[in-house]
Amino acid sequence: MSRSTLLAAIGDFFLPQRCLFCGDFGLLEGHVPLCAACAQTFTRVTPPICPRCGTPLSGTNSHLCGECIKDPPPFEGARSLFAFEGKARDFIYLLKFHQNLGTLTLLDFWLRGEDVPFSAEGIDVVVPVPQTSKGLRGRGYNPAQLLASRVSKRFKKPLIRNHLVKIKETPPQIGLTKGQRRSNLKGAFAVRDKDRFRVKSVLLVDDVYTTGATVRECARVLKRGGARAVKVWTFARTILT
Ligand SMILES: [Zn+2]
Ligand SMILES: [Zn+2]
Repeated sequence: MSRSTLLAAIGDFFLPQRCLFCGDFGLLEGHVPLCAACAQTFTRVTPPICPRCGTPLSGTNSHLCGECIKDPPPFEGARSLFAFEGKARDFIYLLKFHQNLGTLTLLDFWLRGEDVPFSAEGIDVVVPVPQTSKGLRGRGYNPAQLLASRVSKRFKKPLIRNHLVKIKETPPQIGLTKGQRRSNLKGAFAVRDKDRFRVKSVLLVDDVYTTGATVRECARVLKRGGARAVKVWTFARTILT
């Protein structure tokens, strides 16, 4: 390897020079590893949405969705950054298996945006949705943990790890109905030290919001453990059409 190739490789490692998704050198901004063409493929979740669960609605006005009227969730509000599709899906894969300076730089770039669809106001602590250690084996990192640590940094709110814990291994949720997903998760989470959450307003962070079964169960357990309020933020959301 010539000296210049070596320097280029080192440069790529420390300060990403190419788009993480297509390898293009024309970046949107500084060392943020994303090109304009790939940036355009990310679909933001924007109003009209249900103010409670954050699900996108058709029409022009935001209003409570049918599910939140019929079966109100145990959290005060949920918001997501992107639709769970295409490169947003690829990015979560990168967080799980190929965390590096590039993925962190890109995540911080998105979190820095003025239009991040939730505010840190009234939040006391940031908590990731946990996985069991067995669930993590062979599956790389828990992306919720990394997301929560960057959100905590961005909003200058303390991160509480290992106090909301997953105590039961659960089968994959894929292909299950909403009801099956919920019963699947019964008794799966617990609060280790109740005083940690007493009267606190918690921002619960996960990678993807699918039916909301996981964050509903975590919010229920956090509230039983003394939390005053729970808001939810996820990087992506499955959009039902
Ligand atoms: Zn690209
Ligand atoms: Zn709703």
